[in-house]
Amino acid sequence: MLRILVDEDKCTACGQCAEICPKSAKIWKVTNVAHIVDLRYCHVCTLCAMECPENCIRILRPGEEE
Ligand code: SF4
Ligand code: SF4
Repeated sequence: MLRILVDEDKCTACGQCAEICPKSAKIWKVTNVAHIVDLRYCHVCTLCAMECPENCIRILRPGEEE
């Protein structure tokens, strides 16, 4: 199963992950930290992880371990 992990200790809630994500409204919710709401719409473009200034997003494809 695909997973996207946000390091909540590093996340500043800047919202850049959600801004760049092509399916942002369905996938991301940014409150005091960024949360994944629903990954069914994610096509693993990795833009969110590349955009994050804190480098706190990890994308784990099926079979990859933390
Ligand atoms: S881009 Fe990174 S620091 Fe900014 S809200 Fe998203 S996860 Fe948090
Ligand atoms: S990998 Fe792409 S589609 Fe998936 S959450 Fe990140 S920016 Fe959105």
